Amino acid sequence: MAAPPGRCFVCDNTSAKACSGCGWLFVCSRAHQAVLWPTHKYFCRTSPPSRSLPAFTLPPLKPEEAEIYRLHPDGHVLHGREPEPPFEMVPWYKSFVKAGWVTYRGPEDARWILDDLQKPAGSAETPEPARTFILIALKGQHFEQRIELDSDAWDLCSRDLTRILDRLRPHFRSKGMALPNDLLTRLAPFFHQDLIFNTIGINYQGKDRQELLNLAALRMEDWVVKDCEEEEEVKRCLAGVAAVLLIIAATDGRTVC
Ligand SMILES: [Zn+2]
Ligand SMILES: [Zn+2]
Repeated sequence: MAAPPGRCFVCDNTSAKACSGCGWLFVCSRAHQAVLWPTHKYFCRTSPPSRSLPAFTLPPLKPEEAEIYRLHPDGHVLHGREPEPPFEMVPWYKSFVKAGWVTYRGPEDARWILDDLQKPAGSAETPEPARTFILIALKGQHFEQRIELDSDAWDLCSRDLTRILDRLRPHFRSKGMALPNDLLTRLAPFFHQDLIFNTIGINYQGKDRQELLNLAALRMEDWVVKDCEEEEEVKRCLAGVAAVLLIIAATDGRTVC
């Protein structure tokens, strides 16, 4: 991560307090922990505490969450990528097939996806980043009851993630490759910071808000320049995203909300 260990992820002040869940994220105070927790909680305990960065992935679907979807196999449409009117009403799992995140397996699709998403990231058959996209979509949606992942910050971050991967796809295709399955892990520091940027943009109303947004975007830019080991074209794409976030920060993040 661009921010050296021991610096608060919100304000950059030196801090000795690592998050007890992941051991990776530092915060200087309860107040700043509270700023990040609404989204940090989703990936905080995805791996045992360590000083290394957790992969950018969500914990498995809980049985009770899967049950909501199992009860609604033909439930209302989930918006796929960049939905445009007229909206096509398709069962939620078919929207994932349409998005290319899973291959069609027949009428048992819904059940299969739900079973697979209850497995931990490493043992699920659905490869990343599709697994993460589907979990974000499922956890953000609900049938009369709200499933816990209802954060606008996640929603914005998953849109950024989709946009970036869409822009990188032609680059890999030109080399005869699909998007590498471990790309999300390789770019995890960038996406974690993007999530933090959006979380601050949505949850934080302190007077130093603009400063903190700027700091989060600067860290993204910094990581691309100093720590990213991808090819130039990938770096250029990421730097472009960081540049846009710096502009958003300069306008006090108003376009975020
Ligand atoms: Zn702080
Ligand atoms: Zn944590």
